[in-house]
Amino acid sequence: MTNQMKALVKAKPEPGLWMEHRPVPEIGPDDVLIRINKTGICGTDIHIWNWDDWAAKTVPVPLITGHEFAGEIVDMGRDVEDLIVGQRVSGEGHLIGKTSRQSRAGKFHLDPATRGIGVNEPGAFAEYLRLPAFNVVPLPDVIDDEIGAILDPLGNAVHTALSFDLVGEDVLVTGAGPIGIMAAAVARHVGARHVVVTDLNDDRLALAARVADVVTVNPKHQDLAGIVSDLKMKEGFDVGLEMSGSQAALDQMVEALVMGGRIALLGIPPGKSPVDWSRIVFKAITIKGVYGREIFETWYKMIAMLENGLDVRNVITHRFKVDDFREGFEVMRGGSSGKVVLDWT
Ligand code: NAD
Ligand code: ZN
Repeated sequence: MTNQMKALVKAKPEPGLWMEHRPVPEIGPDDVLIRINKTGICGTDIHIWNWDDWAAKTVPVPLITGHEFAGEIVDMGRDVEDLIVGQRVSGEGHLIGKTSRQSRAGKFHLDPATRGIGVNEPGAFAEYLRLPAFNVVPLPDVIDDEIGAILDPLGNAVHTALSFDLVGEDVLVTGAGPIGIMAAAVARHVGARHVVVTDLNDDRLALAARVADVVTVNPKHQDLAGIVSDLKMKEGFDVGLEMSGSQAALDQMVEALVMGGRIALLGIPPGKSPVDWSRIVFKAITIKGVYGREIFETWYKMIAMLENGLDVRNVITHRFKVDDFREGFEVMRGGSSGKVVLDWT
């Protein structure tokens, strides 16, 4: 190993990312060093590339970006136990504090001091990543590196989909981005009856249908109520998974839900958006905000489902060598792709 590595860096406070040479990270006693094999491009990375207001406020420059990865442990700190050099791993990109009430109660994903790799701390778009051993998640052989590289967004999908009991329920997913599509696949896998996915983009709906056995609806030219009656559903959807961040989608969801329905909200609206609260009160709807993954319960469930037949591979639509990262980001910025995976090997 030389002590220099390639890394995709937010090097300047302007749109773009730059491939640079950086020192291989030094590890502390509780860290591991991971050689990165594959990484996924996330919507977050697109915000960072575009250098929008959120990115400019949040991301220090310069910073190695990226948080979706799979690789192999090549070095370990002296206090690391239960992992071995050569082990294939992915990991949780949220670095948590250990002193908050939530953290000490074992609700690590609710720790307010959380910092994200590739957002606040050096990330995974590099040949090597330093990660606390605590955050490492070993990969079983059935999960190859490209699936390993999308476990972060699959985890968002699993966390959202498992927020409510879906067995035998009718589920509406608004937004057929990669995460909405994977949430729909999870809903099918765990035994929902009907899963209906909406999006305004027909390419995305076609992709959803390639990944999972779902009914797709484009509200621009299809009537959701008509589909509901085709499916012989009598009273509306039991559970809604909001995966678009769109006000119109949330309004449509509230309208389409049964009395006492439940909504898990993962989608992030661009700013404040008006909500018809009285409609939600009179329909007795429960709403849960979902952030990240449950550390580590979501990881456990996700890996178990992948071992047990959950198949989301078709959500990966593009694969590039990392030297062609510009093409990968271009495809993602187009807004019609599924997951884009970069190969660092
Ligand atoms: P994405 O932007 O790729 O997909 C969103 C989809 O919603 C797009 O295909 C878009 O066409 C569709 N859409 C827009 N308006 C719609 C409408 N009125 N009805 C139906 N669909 C509509 O996003 P993604 O990467 O799949 O992520 C999904 C959402 O989750 C985003 O809002 C993202 O910011 C958010 N997110 C949240 C967390 C979290 O921890 N809470 C983590 C990751 C992503
Ligand atoms: Zn991500």
